[in-house]
Amino acid sequence: MTKYIFITGGVVSSLGKGIASASIGKLLESKGLKVSLIKCDPYINVDPGTMNPYQHGEVYVTEDGAETDLDLGHYERFTAAVLSKDNNVTTGKIYDSVIRKERRGEYLGNTVQVIPHITDEIKYSIKKVAEDANLDIVIVEIGGTVGDIESLPFLEAIRQLKQELGRGNAIDIHLTLVPYIKSADEVKTKPTQHSVGKLREIGIQPDILLCRSEKSLSLDVRKKIALFCNVEVEAVIQALDVSTIYEVPLMFKKELLDELVLRLLNLSCRAHDLKHWERDVVRRIKNPERTVKIAVVGKYITLQDAYKSIYEALIHGAIANNAKVEIKKVDSEEIMRQGPHTYLSDIDGILVPGGFGSRGIEGKIQAIHFARVNKIPYLGICLGMQTAVIEFARNACGLKEANSTEFNQKTRYPVISLLREQKKIKDKGGTMRLGACKCFIKKGTSTYSAYKKIQVSERHRHRYEFNNKFRNIFKKKGMVFPGVFRPKNLVEIIELKSHPWFVAVQFHPEFKSKPDNAHPLFREFIRAAIKNSV
Ligand code: GLN
Repeated sequence: MTKYIFITGGVVSSLGKGIASASIGKLLESKGLKVSLIKCDPYINVDPGTMNPYQHGEVYVTEDGAETDLDLGHYERFTAAVLSKDNNVTTGKIYDSVIRKERRGEYLGNTVQVIPHITDEIKYSIKKVAEDANLDIVIVEIGGTVGDIESLPFLEAIRQLKQELGRGNAIDIHLTLVPYIKSADEVKTKPTQHSVGKLREIGIQPDILLCRSEKSLSLDVRKKIALFCNVEVEAVIQALDVSTIYEVPLMFKKELLDELVLRLLNLSCRAHDLKHWERDVVRRIKNPERTVKIAVVGKYITLQDAYKSIYEALIHGAIANNAKVEIKKVDSEEIMRQGPHTYLSDIDGILVPGGFGSRGIEGKIQAIHFARVNKIPYLGICLGMQTAVIEFARNACGLKEANSTEFNQKTRYPVISLLREQKKIKDKGGTMRLGACKCFIKKGTSTYSAYKKIQVSERHRHRYEFNNKFRNIFKKKGMVFPGVFRPKNLVEIIELKSHPWFVAVQFHPEFKSKPDNAHPLFREFIRAAIKNSV
């Protein structure tokens, strides 16, 4: 029978609930258990696909093409779980399905209400994941902070579920903040007491408290928290700040969190292996042999989370090369104002990530031009491939006004455009080309040297495509097409002949990179950047 761990957060947001959940997943996997993770998001959007990165951060794409919360990215990077659309439950999705059922007459005769209909649907969605593939544990992270109106139905659902499952089959972990007050030189437990009080008001008694703190918690402080919050002293776990997120599972292990969870869930340990993670991930991050400087040129660079998976994949690529990556976040609109020299002359490699809309596009094109003519290693992702195609069309093929029809519908040279099937689509949500797709790789290319495979599968999230009408012109001028989706003859990858390393891809390799198994393109991009730096 699958057991459950429910994770809630209190006091303030941004305490790192996603990373805590992923780390607990990793820790339990290291004990030989099979885990999966679910993120419950209280917003009313069906998925984050149509949200601005300023609202939501990155949209993470799963194999089956679901547009999901970025915490699923942490889950997949830390654990072996393969996630799908079922692993991200939103209020919008729940209501959508309840309202459809109501219209079909499935509640005939009843008033449809938050309790029991919405809460039943939430429980059903959670249990659906647990049915799958003999999982030992499903970790369910509830988004938001305790006390939010929006998350109440989710909390009520997990309260009921724990009750139904009975003792030893589900536990509640609450992530909270124990702030250090400088003037008093003390850590304060009151916010945690209030937060747990709020949880208990709605019937949830946490079993474990993860206390984020910048100072170590003394036994006295732990005892105090235990007493006021009604948990065992051993269940007050300190979660101190660490220098890399990948160290969090090790820190939890040191605090004996794994032993505690296993005991509370009546599970026995089948294995024991975090050595590899410690040696090949954390130790390498902490002891790099060299530093490499990469510029990420985008328009959401002030936002920590907008390109989360890209930043992580760069770190992974650096780990694979025993290096530390210094990421310079460059605003593409600044490049338009000041020119690329100002920001990119001290850089070893340039990356242009995905994006939507015309703001900052010309700055990205200038950055790519700079990378191409100065022979600086370049990795383009999605929009970063499309803008590389536009740059090449304009400056190497003489197609002066070349553009994507996303930015100029009337361009004379629509080198990036919509396929006929996309032109018909009116709805914006969930209608892009989404999810995993196979791609053939040509031997003798930089891409093949990275993958060393003739067929790969990568995740997509875009509407526009390379326009095949221009393929021959590009080819004559030295562009190479190492990857094509054969059934529809779609260009998925471009490279340049007379350049040490210039690879741009229509898909999102960053979603498949792991700290102990860097994505081949990121690994080779960093390798090329290191070569460029010496
Ligand atoms: N805006 C482009 C498209 O829709 C690129 C999307 C992206 O970079 N994810 O095709």
